[in-house]
Amino acid sequence: MSSRRPLIAGNWKMNGLRADADLLVSGLAARYKALSAPAFDMLLCPPATLVATVAAQAAGSGLKVGGQDCHRNEKGAHTGDISAWMLRDIGAGYVIVGHSERRQDHAETNAVVKDKAQAAQAAGLVAVICIGETEAERDRGETLRVVADQVRGSMPAGSTAENTVLAYEPVWAIGTGRTPTPDDVAEVHAEIRKVAAEVLGSAAQQLKILYGGSVKPSNAMEFLGLTDVDGALVGGASLKVDDFWAIAEAV
Ligand code: PEP
Repeated sequence: MSSRRPLIAGNWKMNGLRADADLLVSGLAARYKALSAPAFDMLLCPPATLVATVAAQAAGSGLKVGGQDCHRNEKGAHTGDISAWMLRDIGAGYVIVGHSERRQDHAETNAVVKDKAQAAQAAGLVAVICIGETEAERDRGETLRVVADQVRGSMPAGSTAENTVLAYEPVWAIGTGRTPTPDDVAEVHAEIRKVAAEVLGSAAQQLKILYGGSVKPSNAMEFLGLTDVDGALVGGASLKVDDFWAIAEAV
C-alpha cells in the first residue's frame, strides 16, 4: 500500500431499510471508533432514502457517508432526481458517479458522468468516478483503451486529488464472484494514474484509485497490497458488518 490513505467504500446499491442501516452503522461505527489511529477511511454509500439516517448515525464515529448518484444540475424540473447539493445538505461528503449499473440502466455516457462529477465537486463533495470495461471489451483486448477513454471522458477539468476518487470496476467482475488477476489490476491502475496525470499533473500521485468487483474478505489482500490500489469499492460484501470489516482489515 502506498502513502495515499486507503479508502474502503461500501456501495449498498438498492438495498437497505432503516433497521438494516441501524445494524450496519452501529456495528461498523463501534469497530471504527475502537481503533486508536485508523489506517484507513471508511465510506458508506446507502441508497438516497438512508443517507440522512446513516449520516446522523455515523456522526462522531469518523465513518464517511456518500450518495450513489446525483443529478448534473443543482436544482430544477427533474422529477425523481436528487442533486449533489441536496446530498451535501443531509450530511454526505461523497457521491459515486458513473457506476456501471447506472451507465447501463440509465444510459449514462462519459459526458453525463463528467457533468455529475463536476456538480459533485462544485457542491463540495468528493466524486467517486467509476470506470471499467465490459467482458466483450476485455476479450477484444481493449481494456486499457476503454479505461483510458473513460478517465479522459469522465473526469472534469477541475478535478483534484482531494475532490476526486477513481474506482476501477470491471463490469464483468461486479456481483459475479469473478475477478481479474492482481497483475491485470496492477496494469490497469498504473494506466489510470498515467491518464489521470493529463488532468492532475504530478498531483495524480496523490489520487486515490480504488479497485471494485467481487471484493470479499478472502481476496481483499490480493488487491489492497498492489502499489496503485488505494482501497476498494465493495458492493455485496459491504452489506455484512463482519465481511466489510474484514476487507478493511486487509489494509
Ligand atoms: C459495486 O457495486 O460497486 C461492486 C463492486 O459490487 P460487488 O462488490 O458486489 O461486485
